[in-house]
Amino acid sequence: MALVVQKYGGSSVSDAEKIKHVAARVIATQAQGNQVVVVVSAMGDTTDELIDLANSVTTDVGGNREMDILLTAGERISMALLAMAIKDQGLKAMSFTGFQAGISTDSEHGSARIWKIDPKRIQDALKDGNVVVVAGFQGFSFENGDTTTLGRGGSDTTAVALAAALKADICEIYSDVDGVYTADPRIVPRARKLAQIDLDSMLELSSSGAKILYIRAVEFARRHRVPLRVRSTFSADPGTLVYTTKEGEEMEEPVVSGVAADSTQSKVTVIGVPDRPGKAAEIFQAVAEAGANIDMIVQNVSTTENHLSDISFTLPHNDRHKAVEALKAKQGDIGFQSVSYDDEIGKLSIVGAGMKTSSGVSAKLFGALAKAGINIEMISTSEIRISVVTRADQLKEATRIVHTAFELDATETAVIYAGTGR
Ligand code: ADP
Ligand code: ASP
Ligand code: MG
Repeated sequence: MALVVQKYGGSSVSDAEKIKHVAARVIATQAQGNQVVVVVSAMGDTTDELIDLANSVTTDVGGNREMDILLTAGERISMALLAMAIKDQGLKAMSFTGFQAGISTDSEHGSARIWKIDPKRIQDALKDGNVVVVAGFQGFSFENGDTTTLGRGGSDTTAVALAAALKADICEIYSDVDGVYTADPRIVPRARKLAQIDLDSMLELSSSGAKILYIRAVEFARRHRVPLRVRSTFSADPGTLVYTTKEGEEMEEPVVSGVAADSTQSKVTVIGVPDRPGKAAEIFQAVAEAGANIDMIVQNVSTTENHLSDISFTLPHNDRHKAVEALKAKQGDIGFQSVSYDDEIGKLSIVGAGMKTSSGVSAKLFGALAKAGINIEMISTSEIRISVVTRADQLKEATRIVHTAFELDATETAVIYAGTGR
């Protein structure tokens, strides 16, 4: 008998009919002789709506304790409804909150990390013949017992972490598209579904803005070697296998597996920084203490006689305000001239494990953008990724152009089964 963990995203459980449809899929999986643990997200755009609601009663909803209590309510609704729908078909089902499922975390409200999972109640319920339904994206602090959330998209992490803790045979992530595509099909209609993708490339795609899989879930899958498959709730397509290459088993990797677009970043520029050892350290120390997460960094070589340079970096929109405030507070100590920001940027990335051994990839990328008159403002690279910053309003066009330039276009349009893309 296999143990299967299935995660259904918000668009897969957005109304009563869809919840009944998911119940039927879960029941069919159990009928094939499997034990099934289901992780659910909040219905549709519930999490966003709850955030809007919070913003309408306060100007400061930062990742705090009350916010986490509010947001976990979304997943409680869907877990209870799905368990009811399964029971309505005459099967046994039990739903569990993050606390009941034994998922303890640190106390970082809004982006807590899983500390330990004690799956005893889940295992007992499975032994009793239940389908187990677990609320995604939530846990409790091992320090004080408070309710925590794992960050937006965190139900993916719940699923992968549970699969690891339960030593599941497979973790299936069900969403509103047929799998992992060469680009977001909402931006590139001719994106192509990948039958498989290596974990390292998936990690880079996720961290570059492809929200089909949450980055922390992919990290978890790599660390604990959890076999992952991404597929659609609304079709029988086998989806995309996310695989780990074992040593000595190197495969021929595609040069470019996919293109990712991220419109959630801002750029901060620190102007007139004294060109002396230690200044960059002071700047990023201040930003780190503010709790901001830095992505790309560019420093101009100082050409002026007074030896000043400019340092620009990107970070999530949500961290921009605190980073700029922290820098302003340290302006006198560090001795830079001023700090500015720009929220209208887009980040485009191409990812592929085959880039390691291929030349001319960046030339092709920059050439395609140049031909379309799209200016590149920043560049950063890793062994298997190249990212560029463009104007925000050119990001979608740039993504389509680059997708075509690397010959990734499919002959048919990708199907999006549900969801609003919010
Ligand atoms: P869920 O609610 O199921 O977690 P998400 O909205 O978080 O769904 O993620 C699914 C969405 O991810 C898709 O509808 C698609 O628009 C987007 N997406 C971004 N990049 C990709 C990609 N490379 N492949 C597939 N989908 C992608
Ligand atoms: N409901 C949460 C969110 O919208 C978690 C998830 O769906 O994975 O971010
Ligand atoms: Mg998601």
